[in-house]
Amino acid sequence: MFGEQLIEEIRKKGLVGRSGSCFNTADKWQAVLDAKGDKKYVIANGAEGEPDTSKDFYVMYNHAEDLVRGIILAMHTVGAAEGFLYMREAYHDLMEKKYNNLLKGLPITLFTERPGGYRCGEESTLLNVIERKRAQPRNKPPFPTQKGLWGCPTLINNVETIYTAEQISKGAYQHTRYFTIGGKVKHPGVFLAPEKISVKDLLIITDNEPRGKTFAQVGGGASGEIIIDDDYSRKITGLSAVTIYSEDDVNYLIKKWADFYRRESCGHCVPCREGSYRIYEMTKSNQIDWNELKDIIEVMDKTSFCALGRAIALPYRSLLASGLIKQKVKV
Ligand code: SF4
Repeated sequence: MFGEQLIEEIRKKGLVGRSGSCFNTADKWQAVLDAKGDKKYVIANGAEGEPDTSKDFYVMYNHAEDLVRGIILAMHTVGAAEGFLYMREAYHDLMEKKYNNLLKGLPITLFTERPGGYRCGEESTLLNVIERKRAQPRNKPPFPTQKGLWGCPTLINNVETIYTAEQISKGAYQHTRYFTIGGKVKHPGVFLAPEKISVKDLLIITDNEPRGKTFAQVGGGASGEIIIDDDYSRKITGLSAVTIYSEDDVNYLIKKWADFYRRESCGHCVPCREGSYRIYEMTKSNQIDWNELKDIIEVMDKTSFCALGRAIALPYRSLLASGLIKQKVKV
């Protein structure tokens, strides 16, 4: 099944982007199909730059044939003559041989970029990287579905999204998705589970119920939300990662986020470039003025040019709201 019939089937199944964006997949495919252009492209994005997530690696490593079939299906469906499969460097080094064999004779290019990582999770940055431009995001609109690679309509989907579309096309989709579980659990790893599962149920069915007081970062090790164990009945949304911590990990986490955002900021806009550096300085010196930090993340959230600068707000805000930080913070 491909073409409009497949788009309708994807719509019926309610598939949304599995990069954490949760954008309606059928709408995106339809937009590229409807867009006017002499040439169109499909890009499967395996950047997976978010710390503590490895479900895209799992999909690319264990379901390579299905993923390639999914890229071809997407190309046929939207009318694209050429496709790309992007992997971050570490993944590329491990899987280059396997994919070069699979892609032989197909109009699909496997590529990586050094450094790429988190930034290439942002779709317009990935376009710039393929075009050999600086790894920074573009103004939107126009969106890639209208003007993407070299100005042509381009479908960019996370690799798990494309793999899932392929499963839908052959009637094998069971409303499941891959979850990464890590941190202080017995069995860290990637697990297939019902897509609308709670943190608590996921930990139970994977034999990962933590002992004692814990909290979780849900949705990725950098941009994920902090929730305390009383709230583990909440459903997992966005990027499907759950990492379990104990209360004495709070300082480590604060520093980890700060270091990550400082390294990943592309430097293109002032709020993210300066804000991420200022937070890094504070956490490094162990002298955190939480009121100042809160002000910085407010500015970054409201004025950063792309999602990376805005993503810093959720982990710090949810940590402050969790009660795990005992200091008084102005509201
Ligand atoms: S928010 Fe950060 S990553 Fe995004 S454009 Fe600005 S500096 Fe670059």
